[in-house]
Amino acid sequence: MTPMMQQYHEAKNACGDAILLFRMGDFYELFNDDAVTASKILGMTLTSRDKGENATPMAGFPHHQLDSYLAKLIQQGYRVGICDQVEDPKQAKGIVKREITRILSPGTLTDDSLLSPKESNYLAAVLSEGDQAGISWIELSTGRFLAGVFPASRLADELARIAPSECLLSEGTDVLPKHTEGKFLHTQRPAWAFGGKAADEKLSKHFEVKSLDGFGFEESDRLAVRAAGAILDYLQETQRGSLEHVQSIVPYRQTNAVEIDESTRRSLELTRTIRDQRRDGTLIAVLDRCRTPMGSRLMADWLASPLADVEQIHLRHDAVEELMNDLPLCEVLAEALAGVYDLQRLLTRVTTGRASPRDLSFVGRTLGKLPRIKAKVTSRKSKLLGEIESQIDLCPEVHDKLAAALVEDCPLTTADGGFIQDGYDAKLDELRGLAAGGKQWIANYQAEESEKSGIANMKVGFNKVFGYYIEITNTHRDKVPAYFHRKQTLKNAERYITPELKEYEEKVLSADEKAKSLEYDLFAELRELVQAAADRLRQTAAALAQLDSLVSLGTLARDRNYCRPKIDETTELAIVDGRHPVLDVTEEAGTFIPNDTTLGGEDEDFVAIITGPNMAGKSTYIRQVGLITIMAQMGSFVPAREATIGVVDRVFARVGASDELSRGQSTFMVEMTETARILNTATERSLVILDEIGRGTSTYDGVSLAWSIVEFIHDRIGCRTLFATHYHELADLSQSLDHVTNLNVAVKEWDDKVIFLHKIVAGAADKSYGIYVARLAGIPHDVNERAKQILAQLEQEHLDLDGRSKIRPKRERHPKTDLQLTLFGPSEHPVVDEIRQADLSGLTPLDAFQKLIHWQTEL
Ligand code: ADP
Repeated sequence: MTPMMQQYHEAKNACGDAILLFRMGDFYELFNDDAVTASKILGMTLTSRDKGENATPMAGFPHHQLDSYLAKLIQQGYRVGICDQVEDPKQAKGIVKREITRILSPGTLTDDSLLSPKESNYLAAVLSEGDQAGISWIELSTGRFLAGVFPASRLADELARIAPSECLLSEGTDVLPKHTEGKFLHTQRPAWAFGGKAADEKLSKHFEVKSLDGFGFEESDRLAVRAAGAILDYLQETQRGSLEHVQSIVPYRQTNAVEIDESTRRSLELTRTIRDQRRDGTLIAVLDRCRTPMGSRLMADWLASPLADVEQIHLRHDAVEELMNDLPLCEVLAEALAGVYDLQRLLTRVTTGRASPRDLSFVGRTLGKLPRIKAKVTSRKSKLLGEIESQIDLCPEVHDKLAAALVEDCPLTTADGGFIQDGYDAKLDELRGLAAGGKQWIANYQAEESEKSGIANMKVGFNKVFGYYIEITNTHRDKVPAYFHRKQTLKNAERYITPELKEYEEKVLSADEKAKSLEYDLFAELRELVQAAADRLRQTAAALAQLDSLVSLGTLARDRNYCRPKIDETTELAIVDGRHPVLDVTEEAGTFIPNDTTLGGEDEDFVAIITGPNMAGKSTYIRQVGLITIMAQMGSFVPAREATIGVVDRVFARVGASDELSRGQSTFMVEMTETARILNTATERSLVILDEIGRGTSTYDGVSLAWSIVEFIHDRIGCRTLFATHYHELADLSQSLDHVTNLNVAVKEWDDKVIFLHKIVAGAADKSYGIYVARLAGIPHDVNERAKQILAQLEQEHLDLDGRSKIRPKRERHPKTDLQLTLFGPSEHPVVDEIRQADLSGLTPLDAFQKLIHWQTEL
């Protein structure tokens, strides 16, 4: 093996399962499996190093393309190590020294070029013991670090809320739900990294505290702390740079948030569409009119955990109302916020020493916007705006210094200087004057020499090898003065130097050099100044994010004519002229039909069964109710004329089986598992939205299941529920259950055609319009006509596939306390208990066999 390949293998071993980019001259090279993988993902040509038996697959790209290749690899969910040359190859004795300078993975990105500004990018770690799970998550680009303990059964839902791009888990465990595999990178870490003692030591050392109690962690938070320890361990290993900006860790307590599980997030398309996983066409895309990336990220946070506390919701609504009613205020704030940069991520770069002059100038410009913003939110009625105002710290000393020091258009590196303004530092001005003076002298010198010698096209040039020189074309060669020393011969010209020129060159270059180094020192000083104010700036950034989100909600409410929902402690849900927030903006103006909802108020039914043909608008209607509720509780106004919402603790939404096909599980199984979870976890305060539950099985099975599910919700849970179905049989439930109401979507029949009015009206639908819908969809005329004949025939034979059912189960009440065997309940069959009690050691094989037979007959 050559020494270089040896170096390669050492680096490769040091970065684990990461793909290694190995710098060789002007290229990054990949070898072996890495080369094969990269050639597939990046479309690079695969070549080979050495031929024959030792052939090593190899691929590479020019070093300046690093960013774009990195982005692609990481988007595909790979970890990538970068091994750079850490000494100048010219100075190297023997082989150039190389070191791993960075290991990047989807969860540990900090470069703006690799991050989406509007979304947080989290690295998570999980571990599970007994029925508890510890989750910790960090956003490295801002330093936000949290950890919490959750019931193990909520692991998938919490991860769906956090939406990490990478998750650490202990080697050999499989705590992560299978279906998350393609969603984020699963990174295995050694078990000791999750150890309690290791976590305490690492975290206390990092935060320089004796114990984590000061952050508010308690004995019951052990699993959370251990997960946090695993995160810190991983970051220390992969981030060779500093973690200084990670200044605290916050225990996550979820007392005041609405619980929304993973399927509900998906079904309601809160942040991604079901079909193509896009942001367009989702609720967040409607809500987010923020002017800053910080605002957009906070809005996503608010949507991820809406509030369940009436007072807190009122606080946000008060602020939104005040902003909504003051258009000039909103406009001024929006305009000022548009000039605010991503202070959170900028601060991270400052505190980790990666800030460029441009970053500092962006901090300065952001601070420049603050006085106006602060003045505008001063003495407002709303308490929240008042708090925001008090948290905005103008940091005038930082601003003034940055504004005075930095030029308008700062470069991305300090290398070439030129970012400190003239007049900021006397010494720098002097050095610049010297350099400039020298350059002027050289220009004059050239003019004089040209005149003296009569060589009109004498040129002064500069290059790194010879410094300043005078270039004279060959046509004038005979006129060249004797004191010109020839240095270089070109095709048509010669280059000369003179002692005087060299003398001034010395002055120019050394002044230039000194100026640059002084500029760097001044830059470091400014960086320290910002760093010293980091805490105040961070708090200011958080306040700006809040303000931005509130202004965004205020302008949205005004533009789309939203109303302020009334939030109280009742279990009422009353919406007048409600609209689906997404269709409200995407459909042509005025074409969306608003609908009312009345559930759960005094004397009102709390379960609504919505029947009607496919495509009538059932799903749209029930989802709209879910979305309006979530919007209201996150602090937004809602697309309706009026709304009263008794605060909800959990929202459950399930779409029909067919939409789930892509998940590759038995659709019916998925549907039932999820329904089971609702029945086991919903409370009286929850909102349940079920769409076509039971569709994944035969009609009779489906109807029976749907029937008993509604009964269970009605009798045992008693929560507000919307159940859309095309099983018209279910409409009969309202006869046997006290609090069930029937709704249907109005349909107009006209001249053998069906027109969907999308209007929800009281009562059950009396007809299925499947055949009409089929025609709308383009089923050939003949097929349709034939279907009508068959339908008529079936109806005659009372097979009853068109609607009114023969299934009329007898009413059976679910007593609220009585334990009974259900498909969904936590209750157990008595046989299970017998098995548990059985003394197996004292059993003969024959006895055992007989017991088995007995148990089988019992089941
Ligand atoms: P269903 O669940 O009854 O099959 P959907 O809710 O999927 O029907 O609605 C079908 C289509 O009808 C939607 O894509 C939408 O374009 C339109 N639609 C639904 N509700 C309305 C409404 N209230 N106003 C206008 N168009 C609507």
